[in-house]
Amino acid sequence: MMKRLGCAACGRTLYNTEIALNLKLRGKASSRFFCLTDLGEQTDSTEEELQEMASFFRENGCALFSQEYVVERGDEQREHLAVDKGT
Ligand SMILES: [Zn+2]
Repeated sequence: MMKRLGCAACGRTLYNTEIALNLKLRGKASSRFFCLTDLGEQTDSTEEELQEMASFFRENGCALFSQEYVVERGDEQREHLAVDKGT
C-alpha cells in the first residue's frame, strides 16, 4: 500500500474509491491514475455518474472496491490494520 497517489493529470490526491474506479475502467495494467474529474473526461462521464458506478460495483462485491490502495487523509492510525482480509 502506498502513502499517497496523485492524479496523473492534475496531481490531486486520490482516494481508494478513485483508484479502484481507474482499475475497473482502465484496466489493471494501467499505471497512471486519475481523479474523478479527469477520469470523467476520459470516459465521457460526469463525476456523479462515476460515484454511482463506484457504489454499484462496491455493493455488488467487486473486490477492487474493498481494497485499500493508499492511506486516506486522517487514516494513518489504521495503516497497520490494513492487511489483506482475503476478500
Ligand atoms: Zn485530476
